[in-house]
Amino acid sequence: MKIGIHSMVWVGDWSETAAREAISKSAEAGYDLIELSAIAPETFDTQLTAKLLEEHGLECSASLGLSAATDISSEDPDAVKAGRERLHLALNLVRDCGGTMLCGVIYGALMKYGHPRTERGMENSRTVLAELADKAAESGISLGLEFCNRYETNVINTTAETLAFIEEINRPNVFAHLDTYHMNIEENSMSGAVKQAYEAGKLGYIHVGESHRGQLGTGTINWDDFLGALIDVGYDGVVTFESFSSKVVHSTFSNDLAIWRNLWDDNLEMAKGARQFIRERLGH
Ligand code: MN
Repeated sequence: MKIGIHSMVWVGDWSETAAREAISKSAEAGYDLIELSAIAPETFDTQLTAKLLEEHGLECSASLGLSAATDISSEDPDAVKAGRERLHLALNLVRDCGGTMLCGVIYGALMKYGHPRTERGMENSRTVLAELADKAAESGISLGLEFCNRYETNVINTTAETLAFIEEINRPNVFAHLDTYHMNIEENSMSGAVKQAYEAGKLGYIHVGESHRGQLGTGTINWDDFLGALIDVGYDGVVTFESFSSKVVHSTFSNDLAIWRNLWDDNLEMAKGARQFIRERLGH
């Protein structure tokens, strides 16, 4: 198992100063991996990032959420085209930084929809993702589809829906990305969902986030049930810690995730605390 941390725990942008701070602090807090935010792949210095990762002995993954203008689950061909381009840039980013997983809300927009998903939109999303998966496979990269709660997507809200969607995409390197924050809202059972994804051979990536997106163990997530299931199935992939506070702000990211409250001030203390929480429960 590899334990990761989301870059937005540390910084809201990816300037050289920000990249140095995020990568060095991730290593200092005891993480194996940093999840890079591929929100603006066109301005991302991959060469510097790869160098800093090597210096600190850290691995990386990358994630993003699409927007209304880049929504590949839309019926608007312009949005689908813009989303396809954005995803291919994000794929290049993770490849050039040396990562092997592109994950997050890469199947549609991260936003509250005012209507259910449509069949034509789903077909658009499947088509773009199948092509992206084939391109990713050339560089040994997998895709993780992070289903979200109903307020943040209308495409996939549960593990079961995600597995069905993945079956339709029908590519060996497309996996389910489970996030406890979203699962806590939508699933019947945290351990049941883990087992379902595992039995389908599609448990590909994990986000651990508390019910209020603050420190692990201080909210209402049933950690014994969820983490116990990861141990039971022998999960050996990435587990990334996510926590967001209004202390660290990226204008669109923070707004998309509705980060209005200040849940912590000291991100190093926060990250170290989460690392200890994970180590105590997963033995890693
Ligand atoms: Mn997440």
